[in-house]
Amino acid sequence: MAARILDGSRIAEEIRAEVLPGVEAFRSRAGRPPGLGIVLVGDDPASQIYVRNKLKSAGENGLRADLERLPATAALADLLRIVDQLNRSDAHDGILVQSPLPAGMGPDAERRIFDAVAPEKDVDGFHPVNVGRLVQNRPTLAAGTPSGVIEILERSRIPIAGQRAVVIGRSDIVGKPMALLLLHRHATVTICHSKTVDLPAVAREADILVAAIGRAAFVTQDFVKPGATVIDVGTTHVDDLATVERLFPAGSKRRDTFARRGSLVVGDVHPAVADVAGALTPVPGGVGPLTIVMLLKNTLRAAEMRYRPD
Ligand code: NAP
Repeated sequence: MAARILDGSRIAEEIRAEVLPGVEAFRSRAGRPPGLGIVLVGDDPASQIYVRNKLKSAGENGLRADLERLPATAALADLLRIVDQLNRSDAHDGILVQSPLPAGMGPDAERRIFDAVAPEKDVDGFHPVNVGRLVQNRPTLAAGTPSGVIEILERSRIPIAGQRAVVIGRSDIVGKPMALLLLHRHATVTICHSKTVDLPAVAREADILVAAIGRAAFVTQDFVKPGATVIDVGTTHVDDLATVERLFPAGSKRRDTFARRGSLVVGDVHPAVADVAGALTPVPGGVGPLTIVMLLKNTLRAAEMRYRPD
């Protein structure tokens, strides 16, 4: 039987409608909209699309959103200077530095930026203080993508407590916070990575399987227990026809999209998993829309936490 498709766009729209009155209420109380400062370094095409979507969504939902751009050749010190300005800005409640940063900034750059953003403006939830609060299950600004996954599960009435959850991927921005959020909702959680032995067998134990790897169609049917919920976080840009032909049947919508655009965004989960899983998030239209709406929600939250009436 084909898996139930968990419609991330619909769920994101539901959350957006809930956030909107909060934005209006903040604006009339504070006399200004919640403000988001986004920094984009370089010209990575995928990052440009993500940033454009974030700016558009913030603007459409009544937030102030400003973009600061730096060339790919910029030094880490230049980026730190912009973050410092945003930290001190009264108009900005949230700061987001789009990843990945150019390799030229050095291997440590991303963590230096995590540390530099003021924790109370850290709407990505990457600052060690916010991560520490998350570890201890205290109120915090938690990373948007994994928080969005929890929204998908809860709003789709998929039980988490007592379930076996397997997260493939242990990054600071997706895998680790994902595992913690599931743990705090009382799942029994296993985190897997590139050194995990017999990954398909471990994944097959999952009632909830989250794939956050970044390898197109890596999770095949043999990773999935029949009836399991599979959440596909991965987004890989595929531009070779052979891969598209291998994954998607002739005449499918995805093939049409590829023919029009010359590339496709493909998830970590193989399309054939839909025949085994009980529920599945699509790519696109699954986790992606949640990431953006959780950013709006976190920015409003940061604004409310920072606001002190005169
Ligand atoms: P990342 O930092 O590259 O981490 C990838 C993780 O996958 C690592 O922990 C890595 O293991 C693991 N991995 C790689 N190859 C593996 C293999 N063969 N077997 C098992 N594990 C393997 O990536 P990320 O930032 O977490 O992002 C993951 C994916 O999610 C990417 O496709 C990214 O574009 C996507 N993403 C989507 C959204 C969205 O809104 N939809 C948001 C954020 C990220 P090691 O630690 O051992 O190297």
